[in-house]
Amino acid sequence: MQPLKIGVLAVQGNFREHAQMLRSLGAETIEVRKPEQLDGLYGLVIPGGESTTFTRLMALYGLDEAVRRFDRPVFGTCAGMIVLDRDHLGLVDVGVRRNAFGRQVASFETDLEVVGETEPLRAVFIRAPWVEDVGPDVEVLAEVDGRPVLAREGRFLVAAFHPELTGDTRLHERFLESVREAQLVRA
Ligand code: GLN
Repeated sequence: MQPLKIGVLAVQGNFREHAQMLRSLGAETIEVRKPEQLDGLYGLVIPGGESTTFTRLMALYGLDEAVRRFDRPVFGTCAGMIVLDRDHLGLVDVGVRRNAFGRQVASFETDLEVVGETEPLRAVFIRAPWVEDVGPDVEVLAEVDGRPVLAREGRFLVAAFHPELTGDTRLHERFLESVREAQLVRA
C-alpha cells in the first residue's frame, strides 16, 4: 500500500512531534509552509503553538485561504483547534475559549475517557483551550470537567491537548483511518 501523504502545518509550534508520530505509523509527512504544498496531500495536521502567531503567519503566506480550500481530513490540536474554530478559519462549528484552564494551573496531564476507546487516553494540556459551545453536527468525544476537549465534525478532528507529546498514538491512528476512508470514497 502507498504511504499516506500527510501535511503538517510548519509555520510555528509542535510540527516535528506530529510528523514523527505520523511517520511511526507509516505515513509520509510534508512540512507545509506554502499554499501550493497542500496540493496532493491526503490530510493535514495543524499543531499546537500560539494561535495568534499562527493566524498572523497563515494570513501572511496565504495559508488561511489554502486551508479553507483544502477538502481532505484535518486534525487540529490545541492552537490548531483554535485556528479552525468559528472565530478564526470558521471550518469547525465550535466556540473555543483560549487559555481556558487558567494561567496558574495552565498545564496538566490527565486520563481521558474517550468515546469508542476502552482504555483511557493520557492527555497533556499546555495553556489549553476548551470548547464552550458546539454546533449541532459536532460530536464530542471527550470532556474535562464537563468541557469538551476532543470533538469531531465530519472530516475535522480537534483536540484541546497535545496527543503528539505522549507515546499514545491512538488519535493519530484515528485520524489516519479517516484519511484512508476519505481516499476510498474518492477512488
Ligand atoms: N495558549 C495557546 C493559544 O491560545 C495554545 C497553547 C497550545 O497550543 N499549547 O494559542
